[in-house]
Amino acid sequence: MVLDNLGSSLRGTLDKLRGKSRLSKEDVEEIVKEIQRSLLQADVDVGLVMELSDNIKQRALEEEPPGGTSARDHVLRIVYEELVDLVGESTELPLEKQTIMLAGLQGSGKTTSAAKMAWWFSKKGLRPAVIQTDTFRPGAYDQAKEMCRRAEVDFYGDPDEEDPVKIAREGLEATKDADVQIVDTAGRHALEDDLIAEIEEIRAAVNPDRSLLVLDAAIGQGAKAQAQQFDESVGINGVIISKLDGTAKGGGALTAVKETNSSIAFLGMGETVQDIERFEPSGFISRLLGMGDLKQLTERVERAMAETQDEDDDWDPEDMLKGKFTLRDMRRQMQAMNKMGPLDQVLDMIPGLGGGLKDQLPDDAMDVTKDRMRVFEFIMDSMTENELENPRSISASQVKRIARGSGTSEEKVRELLQQHKMMEQTLKQFGGMGDGDMQRMMKRMEKQGGGGMGGLGGMGPF
Ligand code: GDP
Ligand code: MG
Repeated sequence: MVLDNLGSSLRGTLDKLRGKSRLSKEDVEEIVKEIQRSLLQADVDVGLVMELSDNIKQRALEEEPPGGTSARDHVLRIVYEELVDLVGESTELPLEKQTIMLAGLQGSGKTTSAAKMAWWFSKKGLRPAVIQTDTFRPGAYDQAKEMCRRAEVDFYGDPDEEDPVKIAREGLEATKDADVQIVDTAGRHALEDDLIAEIEEIRAAVNPDRSLLVLDAAIGQGAKAQAQQFDESVGINGVIISKLDGTAKGGGALTAVKETNSSIAFLGMGETVQDIERFEPSGFISRLLGMGDLKQLTERVERAMAETQDEDDDWDPEDMLKGKFTLRDMRRQMQAMNKMGPLDQVLDMIPGLGGGLKDQLPDDAMDVTKDRMRVFEFIMDSMTENELENPRSISASQVKRIARGSGTSEEKVRELLQQHKMMEQTLKQFGGMGDGDMQRMMKRMEKQGGGGMGGLGGMGPF
C-alpha cells in the first residue's frame, strides 16, 4: 500500500516504546526522525514534513497523556491525529442522483476511474452509467466499453461521432434512467487551451453536479501544481488519485491536494474495476499505522458475504460453527475472500494485525487467485461427498482417481489438500475466522483491536 514504508518503520519504532509509561525527549526525537525519513521518501513536501514534526514533538512532550495511557498509545494517538490532519478531508459525495464529470491529462487514469467509480456506486445500490466522450484518443471507446462490461454497469459511447459535446448530450439522454451519470472526457499531454475549451464545452452541455480531477500518483508533489491549474482553468470539486499501487511517491500526491483548494474523493490502487476505495482519512491513516480499518473491512466483508450467499442460497454460515472446516467451507471462504480483493489489502485492514502476523504467513497461505480457484473447482467437482467432508482422509489412490477424473494432476490435487490444511491452520490462528461467520469475526477483532490499543478507547475508528 501507499506509504508502506512509513507504516512499517513507524510500527517498529513505536513497538520499542512498549512497556514504557513515560516518554523521553530521545524517544520522541527518534520517532519524529523516522516519520520525517518515510514522508520525505514518499515525496511529501519538506515544509509540510517539518511542520508535522514540530507539532508531534511539541504535543508528545507537552500534552499530559490521559490516566492509564502508555507512552506508545500516547504518541500513536498524536501521530494519528497529525497525519489525519496532513491529508485533509474527503470530498463530499452524497449517495444520490447526480452527474459527475471527469477531467485530467491523458493517461492519468480517467477512463479506468470512470468504470471503477461506476462499479463503486453500483455496490452502494445506485444505478450508474458511464458516458465516454473521448474522441481524441484512438481506442478510447473500446477501452471504456470493455471496462464497463467488466464493472457490469451501463455504458454509452459512439465510435462514429467526432463531436464530444454531441456524444455527451446524447449519452445523457440515452442513460437518463441511471442514478449516477459519469462523463469521461479526453485528455492531452498538458493542460492546453484546446483541452480547456473542450472541457468547458462539455461542462456547459452536461451541467455536472461535480467535476473530479484524476491525478496519477506518480507525479507526487506535482499534484499541487496540477490541481491548482485545473481548478483555476476549469474548476474542480475534488480529486481522484490513481495508480497508488505503482509508485513510492503516493505520499506526495496525497498530501499535496490539501494544499490546494481541493480534497480527495477516491483512491485508485490497481488496474481492475474493483481496485478503488473512497478516501476516508481516519480509516486510511489507521490502516497505515497498523490500527486497521474496520469500516472498509466491514464493507468488503459484507459485500463478499452477500454475493457469495446469492450464489449459494442453502448455505448457512452457522453450520460451520458446529463442525469442522471442510473443503466445501474452503470453497466458500475462497469465493468470499476472492470477492474482498487482494489478501494483503484485506489483512492491512484488520486492527492489531498491522504487518506482524501478515509477515509470518506463508506467501501462498491464502492465494485465492481466480486461476487457482478454477483448477480447484474442477478437482472438487470430481470428489465424493465423503471426500469433500473429510479431506484429511483422502488416500493416495483416491488422489490418483480424483486427478484423472478432473483432468488435472496428482500434484494439483495434493496442492489443494495442502492449501486446505494451511487455510485451516491459518484460520485457527486468526482465532475465529474458522467459525465461518465473518460478521462475528469482525466483532471479535473489534474487541481485540480495541483492547490491544490500551488506553485508546474513545479515539474513534477503533
Ligand atoms: P486516461 O487516458 O486518463 O483515460 O487513462 P486510462 O484510464 O486509460 O489509464 C491509463 C493507464 O493507466 C491504463 O493502462 C490503465 O490500466 C492504467 N491505470 C489506471 N488506473 C490505474 C491504477 O489505479 N493502478 C494501475 N496500476 N494502473 C492504472
Ligand atoms: Mg481515457
